[in-house]
Amino acid sequence: MGRATKGCGCAAAILVVLLVAAGYAGWKYVLPWWKTKPPPPSGGELQVHILDVGPGNGDSILIISPAGKAVLVDAGDAGKGKVILDALKRYNVQQLDYFIATHPHPDHLGAADEVLRLTKVLNVIDNGLAPAGWEPTPTPTPSAKVLKNIKPVAKKPDKKASVIKFYEEYREVISQGGAHYEKAEPGKKFDLGGGAFLTILAPSQPFFTREQMKAGGNEPNSNSIVARLDYGDFSMLLPADAEQQTEQRMLTKDLNLQTDVLKVSHHGSKYATAADFLERVKPAVAIVSCGEWNRYGHPAQAVLDRLKAAGVKLYRTDLQGEITITTRGKEGDYKIATAKEAKTDLWEGRLAQKDDSSRAGFIAYGDFGPPPKPPKQKSTK
Ligand SMILES: [Zn+2]
Repeated sequence: MGRATKGCGCAAAILVVLLVAAGYAGWKYVLPWWKTKPPPPSGGELQVHILDVGPGNGDSILIISPAGKAVLVDAGDAGKGKVILDALKRYNVQQLDYFIATHPHPDHLGAADEVLRLTKVLNVIDNGLAPAGWEPTPTPTPSAKVLKNIKPVAKKPDKKASVIKFYEEYREVISQGGAHYEKAEPGKKFDLGGGAFLTILAPSQPFFTREQMKAGGNEPNSNSIVARLDYGDFSMLLPADAEQQTEQRMLTKDLNLQTDVLKVSHHGSKYATAADFLERVKPAVAIVSCGEWNRYGHPAQAVLDRLKAAGVKLYRTDLQGEITITTRGKEGDYKIATAKEAKTDLWEGRLAQKDDSSRAGFIAYGDFGPPPKPPKQKSTK
């Protein structure tokens, strides 16, 4: 009797252990897979417009979901507000559901005040990091009525304008606009409607510090917001100006990095888009957002060579203007259109105005003088 009870107790214990193990496996492996599995596409069209904010450098990417929700990832460079506002008008965007400031550099934030003053924004997302040397100063908040009466002023890039000034303007406009603010954290997922989602992959903590940067590296870039856009079978990676350190850190994490389209990091800088990162992302298409007057050597020949070796189809805003991707979320059905045809070789990189590989620190915004004038047309007389 005693023996039989003992035997029965053992079987029950084994069953409990098995159930617990199955439950754990389900929670650990099945649930995350289920959670990351994108829902089937709604059949509507998703649009991604990589705006041409050249001829300086800058990023501004407009996403319009199949449900009509609009996301603006960055608003740069300074003086490019009109380009962005015109695009919002052209694509009939009445309001921005999300504005994402990937990092506080003027080539990503420079036109934020011009755009956000005139466009209703529901949610603002940034990484919560201010540029070095910035200190909060209390600013009076004018009423919404006053804001409405402010007319757009096309600003010319100001040589003396500092990184802090543009950040101040961005903070001011978001505090006045009354949008919901959210700090980007890896794993946060934003539902854009119609089956499209934007997932934050980086920055993860602890944030990179200046001391951790290699020559040419820069900590605001390395702590950029990196996001992936998913719609059915279509996916796109948006790494902003992430550095190689950011890529290496992402490679050590259990992240889904594989995407159809890669917005090449940091305008094609030689300090990003490492071969092992490309190997993991495995993009079919790479898009470089950079300006034809940039003096940073973007895109770098080394990066273009790595992209070529990876067998991608290449697009560049400096040579082709605005680049538009449209998709209904079915495997391989995305289309890419460019505003103009490239007049020169897409696979030819640019040279930097000065070499920054031997010194610690990156060629900062404003390190250069005014951009070179376009070559004068030769007289045919
Ligand atoms: Zn940039």
